[in-house]
Amino acid sequence: MNILLIPLMFVAGLGLLLCALANLLTWSNQFGAVMSLFNEELQTSISMALVGGLFAVWIPAVLIAQHINNGNRLNFSWKKVLAGCPDWMRYAAFTIFGYAIVNFLLIVTSPDIGNEQGIKAFSGHGMAFYAMAFSIFYSSWRLPRILRTHYCPAGHEVAYEDKFCPTCGLPTAQSGQDGL
Ligand SMILES: [Zn+2]
Repeated sequence: MNILLIPLMFVAGLGLLLCALANLLTWSNQFGAVMSLFNEELQTSISMALVGGLFAVWIPAVLIAQHINNGNRLNFSWKKVLAGCPDWMRYAAFTIFGYAIVNFLLIVTSPDIGNEQGIKAFSGHGMAFYAMAFSIFYSSWRLPRILRTHYCPAGHEVAYEDKFCPTCGLPTAQSGQDGL
C-alpha cells in the first residue's frame, strides 16, 4: 500500500501543477496562445490525461479517507485524514479548495461564455481535487498507522488516536504499536 502512495503522490502533484498552470493561463488570457503551440492530438491527450488522472487519484484518495475514518460517514473528520500533513500543507489544501469555489463563482457570474470558461472552471476544480488527494496520500505516507484498523484489548474497533476504548474504557496502548 505504501509503495502505491508514491506514484499516486507524483500523479496528484503533477496534476495540481498542470491545472494551476492552465488556470493561470485562462485568467491571463494566454491559454489559447499557449495551446496553439501544440497540435490538436496533443491537446486532446493532455486534457484526457488531466481528467483521467483526476479519477485515478481521487478514487483511492476517497477510499483511504473513508478507511481512516473507519467507514464512519457521520463522523467524517478531515483532521484525522490529514493528521500526517504538516500544518502549511493542510492550510494550502484548504486555501486551494476555497480558491476553486471563488474561481467558479467568478465564472458563473461573468457574462463571458465559451470554451475557455469551461477550462477555467475545470482547472480550478482540478486544482482543489488534486491538492486534496495529494494531502491525503502524503498524510498516510507519513503516518502509516492512521491506515490500520486499531482494536482495544477487548476487540472493539477504536480510532487510531483513541487512548481509551470508547466502548469499554480499556487503554488502547498496545494497539498503537501493531506491526511497527
Ligand atoms: Zn473496548
